[in-house]
Amino acid sequence: MTNQPSLFDRLHDVAIIGGGINGAGIARDAAGRGLSIALIEAGDLGGATSSASTKLIHGGLRYLEFYAFGLVRKALAEREVLLDIAPHISWPQSFILPVSGDRPEWMLRAGLFLYDHLARRRVVPGSARVDLRNDRAGRALDPRFTRAFRYWDGWVDDARLVIANLQDAANRGALILPRTRVTHAEHDGSAWTLMLGDGRTLRAKQIVNAAGPWAESVARTVLGRNDAPALRLVQGSHIITRRVHLGRDAFMLQQPDGRIIFIIPYERDFSLIGTTERDIDAPEAAAITEGETQYLIDAANRYLARPLTRADVVHSFAGVRPLILETGKGDRETTRDYRLVDHAGVPAMTVVGGKITTYRVLAEDVLKRLAPRSKPWTATAPLPGGDVPRLDGETGQDAMKRWLANLTAAQENYDPKLIKRLAMTLGTAAEPLLAGGLGANVGGMFEAELDHFVRNEWAVCADDVLWRRTKMGLHVGNAGKAEIAAWFGEAPGPVEPELPLTHRFATPSVS
Ligand SMILES: Cc1cc2nc3c(=O)[nH]c(=O)nc-3n(C[C@H](O)[C@H](O)[C@H](O)COP(=O)(O)OP(=O)(O)OC[C@H]3O[C@@H](n4cnc5c(N)ncnc54)[C@H](O)[C@@H]3O)c2cc1C
Repeated sequence: MTNQPSLFDRLHDVAIIGGGINGAGIARDAAGRGLSIALIEAGDLGGATSSASTKLIHGGLRYLEFYAFGLVRKALAEREVLLDIAPHISWPQSFILPVSGDRPEWMLRAGLFLYDHLARRRVVPGSARVDLRNDRAGRALDPRFTRAFRYWDGWVDDARLVIANLQDAANRGALILPRTRVTHAEHDGSAWTLMLGDGRTLRAKQIVNAAGPWAESVARTVLGRNDAPALRLVQGSHIITRRVHLGRDAFMLQQPDGRIIFIIPYERDFSLIGTTERDIDAPEAAAITEGETQYLIDAANRYLARPLTRADVVHSFAGVRPLILETGKGDRETTRDYRLVDHAGVPAMTVVGGKITTYRVLAEDVLKRLAPRSKPWTATAPLPGGDVPRLDGETGQDAMKRWLANLTAAQENYDPKLIKRLAMTLGTAAEPLLAGGLGANVGGMFEAELDHFVRNEWAVCADDVLWRRTKMGLHVGNAGKAEIAAWFGEAPGPVEPELPLTHRFATPSVS
């Protein structure tokens, strides 16, 4: 899958610049409609914004405050679709929203009523009031919070969603070129020639620029166009801490500055806390600051029964929201919707803005322009790994649970936690892997697993597998990381502070 030299020389229908979720979704949809596609990504696939999100498939409850009903409805409907087509890497996620005095209780209730009713729900439950004095979730919070609402959204492994889309695109004939930068593109009146960083060239009839936070600069410097909308680059950072949750609920916590932060159960032993908003000049500059780390700790501690300290932070990451610049609006009010811009005089389009949640509908909108006579097909077609056998009328989520139970029963020689970890990462691809034997343990991962990521998922280094194909970087410790780096033939990376032993995994597994 990683080497497709014969595909290189053809005149492609479409070249896509950028292998984040938007480029990947467009590549899958277009390849499935019979277009010949080349997707070129400067770094690792999904290695930029699309692996640094909060990972929510959500309508965006807080966008209702800014009357963004159209966006919220579109995103709410899409929750059900994504939970169904990618049931191995996504699930419904409950959120506790404490009544804190930052917004009146009637306003929260009205917002949640709208949220429950703006779009049809099949898998995602509706919201309800909660007495925190009698609910398990309340035990993680300061006892002064007694009332809350429980509402539901979805959660998805963003980086794996990118890979699943690209696997399907490649299976349908797309050429995928990771770690290759497009440096320049020329249109000679009939076709584009794209110059690549490694000196090769590639030809295509049309270009889609899906370079996320780089979209404006790629339009200008690669395509030579000045008509792409200006972007507002807003950094958002997350910290990962020891687990603060007692159950499966996430928390949505209102802050006195009008913002909200999420605390989400993460990888069984951890909590993911985010996010921040900080304007930056260039996407390459993205890095969490001391101030952001402290902001997130303080924001969480306003609510937690047992406060967090800096010593509880085990990992962090920062991403850059590629928002459409709207003069006069602050970060919170700026739209999270996307826009497609056709460049004047040449067959090229730039995609700006968007969310993980809406990547599939964005791709459909792009295809309406690229291939107006073709039919949408991705709403009901499971992604690779999510293609579990389904009974008549069964949802993807239910079919996934049934399939996992059968797999666990059939593979009784393996630890059920390990089976679950592999199944919730690879989906149906876990079945042949387990049946064929996992091979030697390499620093807490397995040889067959690492081989799979190299052969089928374009992984070339330890970071790809530790932080994007999986999140095993949180679980394997420094010795494990060194072993995995050695497996890839790399020198060991920098030694990071280890977690207290009680928070470490004895065997690799996730919740
Ligand atoms: C902090 C944060 C939290 C978020 N939380 C959520 C959430 O919970 N739910 C949600 O739905 N959305 C969320 N989002 C939004 C979502 O993550 C983004 O909208 C989405 O990931 C953008 O995807 P993309 O493909 O446009 O960009 P990217 O993922 O950034 O992909 C663009 C790619 O283009 C490549 N590229 C750039 N220049 C070139 C070149 N010259 N040649 C080749 N390749 C090039 C880059 O390397 C990059 O990989 C969040 C965003 C942030 C920052």
